[in-house]
Amino acid sequence: MDAVDHAQRLAEQDLQRALDTNKAKFVGQDVDFMHCLECGVEIPKARREAIHCCKYCVDCQELIEHKAKHYRK
Ligand SMILES: [Zn+2]
Repeated sequence: MDAVDHAQRLAEQDLQRALDTNKAKFVGQDVDFMHCLECGVEIPKARREAIHCCKYCVDCQELIEHKAKHYRK
């Protein structure tokens, strides 16, 4: 019966490891977008939640959009 217990424990460990890996990936991604990629200022939680994969603060986003418009002309 020990072998069955052992197998079950291994299966639980595999499941736990998979969950931990998923969690680490999610947390890592969240941390990446905590701060503006341009100036490094912390992006407010509300903005991060409102805009999916928001990478820049409001100021830098406006600047980037302004530049993009400028260069297009
Ligand atoms: Zn910024």
